[in-house]
Amino acid sequence: MKWSTFGKCIVAISWMLLLLLPGCQKQGTEPNGETERQLVILYTNDEHGWMEAMETTGGAAGMLGLWKEDEGYTEDDPYLVLSGGDMWTGPAVSTLFKGESMVEVMNTMGYDAAAIGNHEFDFQVSGLYDRLDQAAFPFLSANIREKSTGNIPDFAQPYVIEEANGIQVGLIGLTTTSTPTSAFPDYVADYDFIPYSEALTEVVPQVRAAGAELLMVVGHINRYDMQALASTAAGLGIAIIGGGHDHRRVAEMRDGVALIEGGGEMKSYGKVELTFDTEADTLISLTLGTYNNIGGDPDAEVASIVSYWTDQISSDVIGYVNESISRYSPLMHNMVTDAWLAAFPEADISATNRGGFRADIPAGEITPGTIVGVLPFENFIVELEISGSQLVSYIQQSYPVVGGMTTIDGYFHTDGTPLAADSSYSVLVTDYMWSVSDSLQQYDPEPLHTNVHWRDPVIDWIRAQNTTTANPLDDYLDPVARQ
Ligand SMILES: [Zn+2]
Repeated sequence: MKWSTFGKCIVAISWMLLLLLPGCQKQGTEPNGETERQLVILYTNDEHGWMEAMETTGGAAGMLGLWKEDEGYTEDDPYLVLSGGDMWTGPAVSTLFKGESMVEVMNTMGYDAAAIGNHEFDFQVSGLYDRLDQAAFPFLSANIREKSTGNIPDFAQPYVIEEANGIQVGLIGLTTTSTPTSAFPDYVADYDFIPYSEALTEVVPQVRAAGAELLMVVGHINRYDMQALASTAAGLGIAIIGGGHDHRRVAEMRDGVALIEGGGEMKSYGKVELTFDTEADTLISLTLGTYNNIGGDPDAEVASIVSYWTDQISSDVIGYVNESISRYSPLMHNMVTDAWLAAFPEADISATNRGGFRADIPAGEITPGTIVGVLPFENFIVELEISGSQLVSYIQQSYPVVGGMTTIDGYFHTDGTPLAADSSYSVLVTDYMWSVSDSLQQYDPEPLHTNVHWRDPVIDWIRAQNTTTANPLDDYLDPVARQ
């Protein structure tokens, strides 16, 4: 327990002393004077549904355990738990349930507020509303405007005031202005994402008028954006900017403003500890850092929620196939690459590495777990813009399986017309393929990270065929070799 006086105070509480509790709290939480109050902010971002514990990280249950053990976290004062957004879209346990499982986990962990990230739009605005209805905490953004009215849309709350340890903390949300290109464009076509400084200049007086003493931005904005915004924030009296989107660990001071970002995928978290004078409305002290999510004793309640949702996947029958599908067959290769193109209709070509197929689909019922066995790696789809000649060169080097084209006696579109060497093609590959290929990195140094797991379009496609013993998946597969 870092707050020694606070800790002693807790230890001192027995039911016999309950009547003295208010006095005890006062003494314990005001070490340096009548109006000086302490606050601990625990901060994550880009959680992307990574609730499950992995070999090198404790997942959501381990994170909460760690907070309780190392940070002395309880849902009471003086703690605030905040998310910088992109809460869902990641592994199947989150994505298959459109974020519902992750919001249940975050409710249980006691999150107080979250920024709206670009991936909060992945299941369309209706999907965002579903999660908002479920969440026990507000989704914040002050810089989204309806194109038709100029108003902040109903799903976005520009700010919230949370009282923590007697401090009125004004939390103001921001959403990356890259959202129109980093979310599915159609899903956000009705909205403008206005500049951060413009939004803050507009909303900060409102937050102050509503009674906030200490101001913090909870932003789905990257490190560069946080740094660029710091001087404006300082001028507006904002003490802390929380970030997200680039999955970085950030703990630095810029123009007197604390910048904090917790990494991503629940592998780490950020922490800001401060003492605030509620009379003078000034910070007395502030420290910040980021920490690994390793070694926490898993919280039992969160662990049971995570198990519930992972069990849902294994009992969830998504289809039926009469004959097993070999991992080496055109049936399998075409199904995967075609499913990607079905999920990204704007893309021209899909390509994935043969080594990624690790199991056959056995005859009988298919579950998401079956597909996890076929494609076990945690790869995500990225979209490249490369020329026809670059595409051909990559195929010749790496010999991936392909969709949207064939490579027999030349390089052709599915309709038989030849690929054009000079044309630009939108090509889906995995982030893994891109990261291990110097050529692909050179052809497109900045691919679009869809954050869609490479398995998910396959699961979605199989499910959409509504196959049964009478109407098996076999009838929907393309057996024609493309290479
Ligand atoms: Zn993001």
